[in-house]
Amino acid sequence: MQAVSSNARVVIIGGGIGGVSAAYHLAHLGVTAVQLVERAALSSGTTWHSTGNMETYRADPLIFEMVRYAAETYPQVARESGHDMGWRVVGRVMYTDREERWEFMRTLPELGRARGIDIELLTAAGVRSRLPIIAEEGLLGGIWVPSDARVDPTDAVTAFARAARARGVSIREHCRALGIMVRAGSVYGVATSDGEIACDAVILAAGLWSGDIVKSCGLRLPLHALEHQYLITKPCGVDRNMPLFLSYDDQLYGREEVGGIIVGSLDDHAIAVSTAALPQDFASCLLNERWDQFDAYMTTAMRRFPVLRTAGVKMLLNGPESFTPDGRMLLGPIPGVTGLYAACGFNSNGMALAPAAGRYIAEWIVEGAPSADVTALDVRRFSQAQSAEAYIRERVTEIPGHACRMQAPDADFQTARNLRRSPLHEQLAGIGARFAAVSAWERPLWFDRGLPNVSWIDAVTEEVGGGTASVLVVDRSADTKYLLVGARALDWLATHAAPHTGRDAETMRMPLPGAHGQVEVLVRVLARQADRCLLTASPDQETRLGEWLRRADLPAHIHAVDQTAAYACLELTGPRRESLIQSLVGSGDVEFVDAAAPSARWTGGYQFDAREDRVNDSTVLTIPSEFAVHVWRRLIARGEAFNLKIGGHFAEEALRIARGVPAFGREVTPATLVGEIDAGWPRAAAATATATRANVPRTHRARLIVAWSSPMTACGFGAQDVILEEGRPVGELTSRVRLPGWPATLALGLLDPAQWQGGAVAALAEGGVWPLVPRQTSE
Ligand SMILES: Cc1cc2nc3c(=O)[nH]c(=O)nc-3n(C[C@H](O)[C@H](O)[C@H](O)COP(=O)(O)OP(=O)(O)OC[C@H]3O[C@@H](n4cnc5c(N)ncnc54)[C@H](O)[C@@H]3O)c2cc1C
Repeated sequence: MQAVSSNARVVIIGGGIGGVSAAYHLAHLGVTAVQLVERAALSSGTTWHSTGNMETYRADPLIFEMVRYAAETYPQVARESGHDMGWRVVGRVMYTDREERWEFMRTLPELGRARGIDIELLTAAGVRSRLPIIAEEGLLGGIWVPSDARVDPTDAVTAFARAARARGVSIREHCRALGIMVRAGSVYGVATSDGEIACDAVILAAGLWSGDIVKSCGLRLPLHALEHQYLITKPCGVDRNMPLFLSYDDQLYGREEVGGIIVGSLDDHAIAVSTAALPQDFASCLLNERWDQFDAYMTTAMRRFPVLRTAGVKMLLNGPESFTPDGRMLLGPIPGVTGLYAACGFNSNGMALAPAAGRYIAEWIVEGAPSADVTALDVRRFSQAQSAEAYIRERVTEIPGHACRMQAPDADFQTARNLRRSPLHEQLAGIGARFAAVSAWERPLWFDRGLPNVSWIDAVTEEVGGGTASVLVVDRSADTKYLLVGARALDWLATHAAPHTGRDAETMRMPLPGAHGQVEVLVRVLARQADRCLLTASPDQETRLGEWLRRADLPAHIHAVDQTAAYACLELTGPRRESLIQSLVGSGDVEFVDAAAPSARWTGGYQFDAREDRVNDSTVLTIPSEFAVHVWRRLIARGEAFNLKIGGHFAEEALRIARGVPAFGREVTPATLVGEIDAGWPRAAAATATATRANVPRTHRARLIVAWSSPMTACGFGAQDVILEEGRPVGELTSRVRLPGWPATLALGLLDPAQWQGGAVAALAEGGVWPLVPRQTSE
């Protein structure tokens, strides 16, 4: 056994598939001063009881690419290490008995073709011929994905570990990480059962135990374990080459196992389990069989696969696995401590995702950024509130079942709701607000006024009408708000943000840059005085903004104070908004107060601060929370004369897309360099600027933000559609909307300049191919 190193450049905690993949990829990038520590034997956590299935078709483009990378990497690592990992490409049948799902499946072969993966549509008889154990009765059909594969998880870990060791990485088993050593906000080592290891960076790949480890440096992670079960039968004559199967309708998946069958369930009301309840040692890291939980799925499985009625049961395997609030893994720099990275919380997808996750995290450490846009997996997408034990424990119980549903456009999780509410929540709920949670805030999506035959989309159309013809008001109190206070605070902001943006701090919208000029946060600078300014950002950027300010190394005399709960925020759009505000002020109903002024919160009266957002063509009112209801009532009463409409996030989104304003997480992400944003910022016309900063990561790929219209007929919102040029994928639609009565669909998207040859493009969406026509977005 190798001795534990006393120093390393990177320490990896955890020897499951996540940890060994990170080790292998660091070595691949030339970093061999790497120490991996595993408290027991390699692969002794969740990995060893995984079924090791790989679904190669995924609707999400990032996850699709990650699984594609896994399918290339597993055989390659097996060859490199000389260790067979049981990689077998057996294909998969996905079947359905529901009309809605069947309609969706019919669109998949064409989508697959665009993305370079074979998908074949199957009739019910076709399903049966591919999967002879299934009872055909009631089936509508399915799809066949020949590239789907399986791997032996323990052998996969052995192969990755061997290949990493051969490249110089040190792996220490039976060595427990006891704590992360932090000085002045940065990692400087890891304390282990075999001594301290000095290092510059730590990758947390300890699976469901990752949350326990970060507590040693005062942090929390939004991750919790669930029980996850599958049945293993004795041999029952099943063909060893039987394909994998999956049904979201039945909430079942499975495959052949030594001539028998494995059938697993994707549970509703899954059972949360805390790490304290788990045995510490390898041999018994399995939980008791829970037949009461599995019974309903077993009944469905026996109906669907009659062979199960007679097959002998070997065991009901119950293994713990970690889940997150949105069902996506945790990747990237953990906020609060510099040099600490997450590669954990795989939501039962670790075998499929860990090869790419290990690569991205290695690139992040070595090159400053991952080679793919992983914003959707970035651990900073969650707020602190979402790491609270009570919140996460409740939420994860819904994750496996939720993934199986075809969701209505305004559907959201049912659990862990109503944690954070706007001061206006009761007022909004009283007039029919339909909420969805973002960063644990309840945010209004649209208003259901209970009118007969008025669908959600009709209601949104009416709300949008206010924003174009009269006035629309939307509650944005969930936006994150930081007050920057101290002598010359505004100058400091201008020095640290504006030089990178080419704009001065007078610009209301400002991308805050990261170390290599990437957009880390997209803020609005609201109230401004020389010594105080108010930065706001969409709720999903709460942690990013806090972390940017922490890392910005503020001078001692400037303080960033989180004021999110202190102010309500209302955004007014539409041609009559100024008249309405004047009328409100002229009547003496409310007074203007600069929200950045020191006295703003203590002078009494119904005050608000009003700021024009030229880009969004809107006015943002910032109101001390305690006055919010009073200002709201007066606004609504006075608004009657101005045909004021009350709307939600959907209406704002429709107007944003129509105006061509890029949003963080969609058109603009940390994969965008500040210098790449269109010169006509932030209007999304064809951007052509190229990255000029010297320290741009090797892996960076420029993208063009473009606005289009399209004859696509379906009403509603959409995103993540493939953009084609002569049948080749050249980009992705990031936002699109069409409302009833609109002559066209309006869309924003990203083109890859390395792929796009300047020709006409089309979107593959809603089961068809639709031309995209570039459009001007008015300034
Ligand atoms: C029943 C079941 C079926 C599944 N089927 C599939 C599937 O078909 N396809 C798929 O893609 N995924 C599947 N998964 C999910 C997949 O197995 C996991 O996502 C993956 O194995 C997680 O890997 P990991 O490296 O993050 O965690 P783990 O494998 O748990 O590794 C973490 C390691 O960290 C170690 N550790 C913990 N604390 C410390 C410490 N303090 N110091 C040092 N080491 C420590 C642990 O001992 C452990 O070895 C399944 C999971 C289950 C439970």
